[in-house]
Formats: sequence, C-alpha cells, structure tokens
Amino acid sequence: MSEIISKRNALLAETVIKGLKSRNMTGWYAETREEALAKALELIPEGSSVTMGGAVSAHEIGLVQALKEGNYRFIDRDAVADKRAAMLAAYDADVFLSGVNAMTSDGILVNIDGNANRVSAIAQGPRKVIFIAGMNKVCGADLDGAMKRARNVAAPVNAQRFGLSTPCTKTGTCMDCKSPDTICCQFLITRFSRHADRIHVILVNDNLGF
Ligand code: SF4
Repeated sequence: MSEIISKRNALLAETVIKGLKSRNMTGWYAETREEALAKALELIPEGSSVTMGGAVSAHEIGLVQALKEGNYRFIDRDAVADKRAAMLAAYDADVFLSGVNAMTSDGILVNIDGNANRVSAIAQGPRKVIFIAGMNKVCGADLDGAMKRARNVAAPVNAQRFGLSTPCTKTGTCMDCKSPDTICCQFLITRFSRHADRIHVILVNDNLGF
C-alpha cells in the first residue's frame, strides 16, 4: 500500500471502528497482514474450537495455517467426510471466522450466502465471531452502497470462483437471477450485536478477498 492510501485507510478505519462501537461490536485496525494475524491470534485463546465460513481473507493473512499448526481445535469442513456434522459443530464453536462481502463506513456488515451456513453462524451460535476485512470492503455510509458492492462485486467473483452457471459469470455483474446455481439465497445485514465482545472486525490496510 502506498503511504497516501495507508493514511486514508487509517483515517477511514477510525470512522469504521467508531461505528462498530456504536453497534456493540469491536473494531481493530492492522497496518499489515502480519499485524492482522497477530491481532487475530490474540483474540483466539489457545485450545479454542475454531471454524469458519467463506473466509479467503483469513487464508490471505496466514490465519488458517497458523490455527491448523497451532494449539487449537480447528474444525476443517473441507477435510471431513461428514460436512453436515461439521456445519452443525460450527454453531457450538468458541470462534467462527468469516470474511465480509461489504460494510458501511458506519460499521454495518453485509454478507450473502448460498447454503446459509456462514450467515447463520454469524447471526447466532459461536461464542465469538472474528471478521477479517481488507479496507477494500469498506463502502460509504449508506447501506445501499454496501449492498451494491456485495451483489455486484463479491457475489459475481465468488460465483466465478466456484465455477457456477449463473448470469453473473458471463456478464461480471449481478443480473438478479433465480438460477438453481445462485449463491445469493440469503442476505445478512449485521447492524447491532446483542452480545458485547461477540463480534470483532479486524480491518486490514490491504486489499483482501473479493
Ligand atoms: S443473484 Fe445471480 S446473477 Fe446476481 S450475483 Fe447472485 S448468482 Fe450472480
């Protein structure tokens, strides 16, 4: 990141963190991926059971590898045969990791899901939810802008990533489809956390995820 963009990101992160605080959520700012990794590990006590939804950003900062190699009970959905059991175990996990499809500068989080395992675990179940969010996910203050990002950037890229047969994989933008392959089945807007210290957002001075 150039110095000038880093300066803007640091200022914007202050605004986002204030917005999160007003919503009973906690925000952290990391200048680098390494700082973000250190903060995430500080928030996850050793011995914790940890699982995740779609979280490319958690991979990109090295968090998933660190959890697999460290003293944690990491539930790896991709490595077990019984996917349903792993999904259900997520609701009882100590920590759930997630990326963010988009967020407002006022701290509202937007996530879209096909199977809904990710958005349902964000909404309730795991004792702590940690989002890893590159500053590229932060939109303006209005929710409409964040919804547009989630639908027109994050979802089409994810549809490409999974090789789905949806209109957006041909046009690059959302066509509001009802295709059987659609990944846009459930939309979760997290505007407040009922439980203090449950939702943490680590903002990273970098472009992460989609
Ligand atoms: S609604 Fe359909 S076209 Fe739009 S992003 Fe989702 S999968 Fe793609």
